[in-house]
Amino acid sequence: MVLLGAGFGGLELTAILSDAFGDAIDIVLIDRCDVFVFGFSKLDVMFGRRMLADVRHRYSDIVKPGVRFLQSRVRSINPATRRVVTDDGTFEADVLVVALGADLDPSATPGLVEGGNEFYTVAGAFELREVLARFERGAAIIGVTGKSFKCPPAPSEAALLLHDYLTARGRREEAEISLVMPFGTPIPPSPDTSQAILAAFAERGIRFVKDSLVKALDPARKVAVLSDGTEMPYDLFLGVPVHRVPQVVVESGLAPDAYGCVPVNKKTLETKFPGVYAVGDVNGVGTAKAGVFAEGAARVVAAAIIAQLRGGPSPEAYKGAGACYVEFGHGQVGRVDVDFLSGPKPTGTFQEPSEALLAEKANFGSSRIQRWFGQPPP
Ligand SMILES: Cc1cc2nc3c(=O)[nH]c(=O)nc-3n(C[C@H](O)[C@H](O)[C@H](O)COP(=O)(O)OP(=O)(O)OC[C@H]3O[C@@H](n4cnc5c(N)ncnc54)[C@H](O)[C@@H]3O)c2cc1C
Repeated sequence: MVLLGAGFGGLELTAILSDAFGDAIDIVLIDRCDVFVFGFSKLDVMFGRRMLADVRHRYSDIVKPGVRFLQSRVRSINPATRRVVTDDGTFEADVLVVALGADLDPSATPGLVEGGNEFYTVAGAFELREVLARFERGAAIIGVTGKSFKCPPAPSEAALLLHDYLTARGRREEAEISLVMPFGTPIPPSPDTSQAILAAFAERGIRFVKDSLVKALDPARKVAVLSDGTEMPYDLFLGVPVHRVPQVVVESGLAPDAYGCVPVNKKTLETKFPGVYAVGDVNGVGTAKAGVFAEGAARVVAAAIIAQLRGGPSPEAYKGAGACYVEFGHGQVGRVDVDFLSGPKPTGTFQEPSEALLAEKANFGSSRIQRWFGQPPP
């Protein structure tokens, strides 16, 4: 079996199959990077809450039976023959899983690379440590530049954590914080969560600019241009870059174009090519782009592969449900459980921010690292 992408989806799938079959399975797990970093760790890094070295999980530490990790770039995928070409060899698979996530394209927003910052890549988050330390006063904008983006709560979390960061440095009075989002509320499937976030913004003086995208920055005039032409002056711009389907996936014919995700059977996550699945942010199953949904999709695909190899009954259909933790600042985390696919429209239930949920989020991360990477031999 060949698994492309060792992110949330790829690691979860690998762990389940390794636990089920041990050395009896042969999984080649391929990723261009040498380390895994949780999305939420980027917020920790940019605000100086954690060191970069502490959030990097090296793939060379994986000790799961039946799993071979290969650090290499995937150059082409032929879904009809399940043949994959990488910089370090060609692979033929009985089962091929594409879990290559969403790529980020900061250059798709004019002016962003030259005149702003982004916090969605590890490099961008790391660079922001210095930029934030130098920010003394003026207008800070957290701006979303494309309609579909990973982890819809993340821009709101960034705004709330920026408030705490500036308060701790005694600079909050000198700064304005605005958040530009393409939605009418921060978390559309959950009115309760949205209300709690909007209340937290109101309490802290954070401006929420709804139903808008940042289309361009003009670095010379220091203004952000919104989708309706409005201009907002900025001194600090923290962007969520345009997301796109990885080019290699578009070229494979699995996705229609750079902005149309891979169509899959919503119940099984199988593509139109037999034995080829698409898991996580790369697919168009209809959930938000988030690790918890990638993980849920991986579980369904793992169950299908186990059933196929052992001859058991077909697994339950994918539900598109998962729990996201939301940083509210002040050392507290809330939680929203969202169900995208069970009903006619997505629904969400909210748990108030608390220190207990902060601990639950920490355990969410550490339990995954343990499950995905395994225990090194004593
Ligand atoms: C700031 C921020 C905060 C977030 N917070 C949360 C959160 O609290 N909870 C949550 O559930 N989600 C969160 N997310 C979202 C989460 O990180 C992603 O949705 C999740 O990682 C998607 O999993 P995936 O397996 O689909 O893709 P990814 O985890 O992105 O993995 C894809 C992998 O494919 C590799 N790859 C891509 N192209 C190639 C190629 N050509 N060759 C080889 N390898 C390739 C990449 O290197 C990558 O490792 C957050 C994201 C951000 C940016």
